[in-house]
Amino acid sequence: MKPSITSLIESLPATIPFVAPESIERRTGIPFTVRVGANESAFGISPRAKYAMDQAVNTISHYNDPESNDLREALATHHKVDTNQISVGAGIDDLLGLAVRTFIGPERIAVSSLGSYPTLHFHVNGFGGTNHTVPYLPNGFNDLNALADAAIKQAASLVYLANPDNPAGTWFRASDLNAFVNGLPDSCACILDEAYIEFAPEGTAFPMGDLDPRIMIMRTFSKAHGMAGARIGYTIATPEIITAFNKVRLHFNVNLIAQAGALASLKDLDFVAGVVSSVQQGRNDYEALAQELGLSTLPSATNFVTFDAGTQQRAQLILNALAKRGVFIRKPGAPPLDRCFRVTVGTDQERQDFARILPQVLSEIDAAIA
Ligand SMILES: *Cc1c(COP(=O)(O)O)cnc(C)c1O
Repeated sequence: MKPSITSLIESLPATIPFVAPESIERRTGIPFTVRVGANESAFGISPRAKYAMDQAVNTISHYNDPESNDLREALATHHKVDTNQISVGAGIDDLLGLAVRTFIGPERIAVSSLGSYPTLHFHVNGFGGTNHTVPYLPNGFNDLNALADAAIKQAASLVYLANPDNPAGTWFRASDLNAFVNGLPDSCACILDEAYIEFAPEGTAFPMGDLDPRIMIMRTFSKAHGMAGARIGYTIATPEIITAFNKVRLHFNVNLIAQAGALASLKDLDFVAGVVSSVQQGRNDYEALAQELGLSTLPSATNFVTFDAGTQQRAQLILNALAKRGVFIRKPGAPPLDRCFRVTVGTDQERQDFARILPQVLSEIDAAIA
């Protein structure tokens, strides 16, 4: 007896987009003491969010509001858009699934950068579509011309861009994205993943007023708001796209505690500003460290810094040697950025430990390579 799994699901790789630090610890038996690999916030959550979440526990026997209405209204006011332009989801990862389900299916193509945020590719594969990728430029920027060209040549249904980018950290000004968006085919939807937008300079966020009908802007409470484990984010798009999401999204997709925490955190702008300034300090520390060690870094408007190790082999050896010493980092998997490794801004203690351990690792590796 054997139930019949669809050929689509049978054809998918058994790999998952992210190997969690917990899984690596279980495999190696070495605990991570410096956890700077997943771009998690080292700066906690707003005390107001914590209070709201504690209170929400008292009503956890109730179903959550399936429309996340209070949060959507607050977000609408915050961003000066209509409430019916907002869909709340269990993080951008969930919303990417909705966008892909809405615009991708068998015979449909999604365009993105090779080695960009893997959840997009994961969903495209899962819904039977095809990923078409174009390489990053050698300097770590997304190749906007190549992405737009590919969207046209492939008659793509969807194009994905993270701005600021992960894993590179690089970013474009919104005015530069306008030309990119204008150059896309009329029928091609476009995801602008703004997971790191709070850390970026003024003029980076894509304007939400009078939104182009092809655009979906995605935001999250996982990074600057420090709520990655709560799983909550949102999409801003036209009411037509939001209506489409509502047809397929899990009705109770965002739990009650996360909704309450996000609402409170949204109103604590001072807290978020404090996180942004601590992250800026941390990026400066990493950049100074890199300079001392003769490594270059990519420009970053995120909560991490991407260090250039020169070659793929050296970057991988650095990652492995750091892991042996209890330091969790990640590295880009595809050329040209596979020569780099990516380090999240950690706590003061984590940054000090990293600054102590990285030079040891480099001398060990460079002696072995030489
Ligand atoms: C961290 C990150 C996200 C956040 O995803 P959530 O599901 O909201 O936690 C989305 N996109 C990119 C590029 C990221 O790096």
